[in-house]
Amino acid sequence: MKVGLYIHIPFCSFLCHYCDFAKTANFDAIEVQDYFTLLLAQYRAIIGRIEQSSGRKVSFSSVFLGGGTPGLFTGEYAPLMQEIYGRLDPGVEISIECNPNNITAHALATWKSLGFNRLSIGVQTLQKNGLEALTRDHDASGALRALELALGVFPNVNMDLIYGWPGQTAADWADDLRQLVRSGIPHASLYSLTYEDRTPFGRMARRGRIKPASDDSLAARYSAAREVLGGAGYEHDEVSNWARPGFTCRHNWLYWDFKHFVGIGAGAHGFLPLAPGGASDLDLGLRYAFPRDFRSLLRRGHMELPAGTMADLITGLGGEVDDSRDADAALIEYVGGSLRTRHGIDLAFCEKITGQAFTARPAILEALRREVAWRDGHRLRFDPAEWFRENSWAGEVLVSFPS
Ligand code: SF4
Repeated sequence: MKVGLYIHIPFCSFLCHYCDFAKTANFDAIEVQDYFTLLLAQYRAIIGRIEQSSGRKVSFSSVFLGGGTPGLFTGEYAPLMQEIYGRLDPGVEISIECNPNNITAHALATWKSLGFNRLSIGVQTLQKNGLEALTRDHDASGALRALELALGVFPNVNMDLIYGWPGQTAADWADDLRQLVRSGIPHASLYSLTYEDRTPFGRMARRGRIKPASDDSLAARYSAAREVLGGAGYEHDEVSNWARPGFTCRHNWLYWDFKHFVGIGAGAHGFLPLAPGGASDLDLGLRYAFPRDFRSLLRRGHMELPAGTMADLITGLGGEVDDSRDADAALIEYVGGSLRTRHGIDLAFCEKITGQAFTARPAILEALRREVAWRDGHRLRFDPAEWFRENSWAGEVLVSFPS
């Protein structure tokens, strides 16, 4: 059974004031060691349970180490990777997220020797005022040196950039895009800054001490990115992701295409078949999440694991299973994820989920007429300019399956 594998490493050497990921800068070496042991235990338990219930061997099409800052570690991954090697599909993609300051010749060589073949680097911006505004710990010249070093060892590198940070001008963004193209980095993830409740930025925005960028200026940044990256030969895979031909991120497509993945570690999410090996041709799957606090997971590490279903196991490991999920929820997940990709929405799949025929609402008919959306057999695709308005289009698509 082919699935993806997501491994969350929650440790960071500093905390950025906008970040809402499961992360901590408060940890010691013993906790890190215990955490890696816990990852191995979670991995063995979940994979073992899938194989036991399906009677099939699990293999991985992609492995993604996300965080936090997985780039803080190198040889620590060896025991986990030893465990994973026998399950890798040919041509597997193995990504590790890192920050520019993690990139050294030693780290690159170790990651490569462990089989990693893709780096995702959190650059965020190359503007001095932007790096300060985003409370990052690297400078622009250090980031450019890191990118060059990384590309010398890994041809497949992603650069994360953020737009809409306080004080960013159109010229700042144009310069970031220009430097991205010039760097030769083949994949870019460009995110608009969001102000999440539980972050310092979110609190500052609530108190009026920081003013989020207007929707118009964010739309203008998005449009500039489309123009510059499209002109430089990058394919626009998804609203936030661009890739040169041959460098699309396979792990991302698992999420967008509603494919299954195992998630392990603090704050990790997973999406597994509900009845692995079952006869049903429509399995809405089981979604789960582990708590964001790594210490609460460590505390559960010594407990005996329950026999029974995958949901029992996840709960026993300290995770939470979404048991309120029904066909409507699955449809919302699928449409929300696929609408803003170049593959678009598989209407036949939606019809299978809902049991209803797709009946395009007037707004969709109008989009088709204006050629900002296309129907191609059972695929409905929207123009990339429309991906930015995903919420309103998702609503129109959902009501086109009348219940
Ligand atoms: S953005 Fe990255 S480095 Fe900064 S706190 Fe979040 S996970 Fe850590």
